[in-house]
Amino acid sequence: MRVLSGIQPTGKPHLGNYLGAIVNYVKLQEEALAAGGECFIFLADLHAISQTHDPAELTQNTREMVATLVACGVDPAKTILFNQAQVPAHAELQWLLNGTARMGWLNRMTQWKDKAGKNREGQSIALFTYPVLQAADVLLYQATHVPVGEDQKQHLELARDIAQKFNSDFCPEDAPLFTLPEPYIPPAAARIMSLRDGSVKMSKSDPSEMSRINLTDDADTVMKKVKKAKTDPEPLPSDEKGLANRPEALNLITIYCALTGKSTADVLSEYGGQGFGNFKPVLGDALVETLQPINARFMELKDDQEALDAILARGAAQARERGIPTLNAAYKALGLVRG
Ligand code: ATP
Ligand code: MG
Repeated sequence: MRVLSGIQPTGKPHLGNYLGAIVNYVKLQEEALAAGGECFIFLADLHAISQTHDPAELTQNTREMVATLVACGVDPAKTILFNQAQVPAHAELQWLLNGTARMGWLNRMTQWKDKAGKNREGQSIALFTYPVLQAADVLLYQATHVPVGEDQKQHLELARDIAQKFNSDFCPEDAPLFTLPEPYIPPAAARIMSLRDGSVKMSKSDPSEMSRINLTDDADTVMKKVKKAKTDPEPLPSDEKGLANRPEALNLITIYCALTGKSTADVLSEYGGQGFGNFKPVLGDALVETLQPINARFMELKDDQEALDAILARGAAQARERGIPTLNAAYKALGLVRG
């Protein structure tokens, strides 16, 4: 069992990152250890340069993201925690896989379409080839389980397509190089939506702070954001069918269920018929209860630059070593001569 996932240090991690991905990093880190496997979690700083960014902010966000992940329970003693920029094999393998990935495959990626919007011509090439770097991230370590939110499912499928094509084009049938990775997507919180618009996902890159709950928000900020969250004027329904076509209501219920472990049916039987004025404070309390310990731990860690850099340096050394065999085998399979 090899678990691997990444998160971009493009801003402050939010509730969607937490419920959609980070809780599963922590869960799978334990499962990998118990199974005699390994867990790799990395900061996708090379991905972060695919869109306009401020270099000083990227450096600071990278350290803060390490502090947040550790505060959430990613344990550097159990997980290889590192940033891509210290492991050149990611970029090298991406180049090798660029020979296998097809333009048509990348053109179909919804993240590319969403992030590029109407201005495709003006986007960086890195934004277009982002999924190939992501395939390299995963395939380099022969990952078996990849905990991600639902938005990354399509990229994982692309990674499998690239692996399959490379294996069939360049490897003997009985000795494929790349393991086909499986996405590990939480059924209950796969796609947490923006608090301002129930039709788009909560994102670090959303310009509105009010659209997301950051893991480092204090209790007052959390309560304020929940209070201002967009809703419709109807009271909560008493059963799940009543949530159809009510994306904002569905999102708030989904968040509450994910935080408390309660089922949608139970929550609706308790709050059905009541207005959001009653439900929002209950949701706010559940959020504060989850985030408070993360926040406290983050505050202890965030300013210790030396300790955070040491975690990354150690993780990167381990990652560099783990990636060597696959990278070397990829060069060899392609017939590239290397001394
Ligand atoms: P950006 O807007 O910069 O792309 P992001 O919020 O999408 O940031 P990423 O770093 O791209 O965050 O993703 C990190 C992980 O969090 C991925 O596994 C992704 O699937 C997951 N994730 C991101 N947003 C959500 C969401 N709204 N609900 C569930 N999971 C999410
Ligand atoms: Mg994203």
